[in-house]
Amino acid sequence: MQYLAITDADAIHSYVFAPHELRLIRGGSSLLDACNDQAAALVSSGMSGCKIFDGGGQVLAKFPTGAQAEEFCRTVRDLYREKTQVATVSTAIAEYPSPERFQESLDDLLFMLERAKQRRTSGHFNGGSPYFASCQSCGLYPASGASVAPGHKIICRPCCLREEQTRKLRQAAENEPHSFEDIARQSHPQNYLALIYLDFDRLGRYLKAVIEGKESRYTVFSTRVKDSIKHAVTEAGKQAPGSITLVRGGDDAVVVMAAQHALKFLRVFREAMDEFWNREEAKGGDHHAGRPRPSFSAGMVLAHSHFPIAEFMRIAEDLLRSAKRLQEQDAIDYEVVTNSMIGKVLEQRKRFERRRTSKPYLWADFQDLAGELVQLKKTGAPASKVKALYHIAYQSDLQAELEYLHLLSRLDSRSREIMRRPQAVGLGLWQASDTGAVATRAADLAELWEFV
Ligand SMILES: [Zn+2]
Repeated sequence: MQYLAITDADAIHSYVFAPHELRLIRGGSSLLDACNDQAAALVSSGMSGCKIFDGGGQVLAKFPTGAQAEEFCRTVRDLYREKTQVATVSTAIAEYPSPERFQESLDDLLFMLERAKQRRTSGHFNGGSPYFASCQSCGLYPASGASVAPGHKIICRPCCLREEQTRKLRQAAENEPHSFEDIARQSHPQNYLALIYLDFDRLGRYLKAVIEGKESRYTVFSTRVKDSIKHAVTEAGKQAPGSITLVRGGDDAVVVMAAQHALKFLRVFREAMDEFWNREEAKGGDHHAGRPRPSFSAGMVLAHSHFPIAEFMRIAEDLLRSAKRLQEQDAIDYEVVTNSMIGKVLEQRKRFERRRTSKPYLWADFQDLAGELVQLKKTGAPASKVKALYHIAYQSDLQAELEYLHLLSRLDSRSREIMRRPQAVGLGLWQASDTGAVATRAADLAELWEFV
């Protein structure tokens, strides 16, 4: 008999995105990485365990006795508390009678982990008490000291720990942007940031199908998922100077960059992902999944850098969920967010019976649209006419169609030819999709004009 133990960081995004400054977000994210690395190192050093997987806030390992598994879990819980004060980790242990029963043991373990997470109550300190000044960075805990950054805000102990970690990071990465404003200064349209939230779809189901109940295959494929995200984000990041990965999990990542790099980032991300996956698959043997890689989705928010980062994240989460409705295929949803739209981004779309947008997009369709947009810019299509498409899309159906045809008649022949392609707007304004729903890409095209 052996024992499986798992440790899994709770509510990673709530912890990382509690403060609104880039340097503290980076510090928090890096602290979690450090906790994860230390937890993974603990398994074999002194605990006589054997690691099965680690990454994205999670460590899965096996131990010869239940007592050792318990000790591992307890030590990791203490580690998170000590390093971050507030970030927590849930743990679970399950019997692992024999290698043939790996899947069964893993299912038990994940069920117990889920229960442990549900039992956890947030118990956050509630700011705003008249007796405490709350932290000026996260607003969640009583302030306990002054920040060393210019301005010397008073911040809480967890934010102090984030700040200390950031200082260590800074020594490693000298030329990294210090603030969201630093990134925004390099952007056009001016001060516009893109935040992209990338996430694999239905990964649990995929892993279950592909590992065939084998522990060794679980290690191979969970590691592949983790490494593929890392590889793709790194490769795409090279095309987006000044981009920063705010948090990277085992199967997801949140990246922020100057808005004009976003479309290129997305294209390279997918290419690098496929390239990585194909290379791994070609190794054969235990590395051969024999089925396509799991699909992934993205939620992208383009907005002014003065927008609070928590708002960026909240909208990106909504958009990611929306993209995931297009199942089994890579998909993306995005929004260019203006002040008047806060809090009702997706609701706004529902107000019109005929859809004034074709979002969410299959990834391939989105890239086609972006590609046509680049062509239009190259041919010198006038910005005013392309942007007019936005207004046109929101007219009554017939009026919109008429105005679109009129606009086409006033374009030069090359731009007109591009605009009429089905990958752009099409011959007519309204297009029926595969599902039969009628919508137009006109407003979507107009919206992205500034970002290519
Ligand atoms: Zn704080």
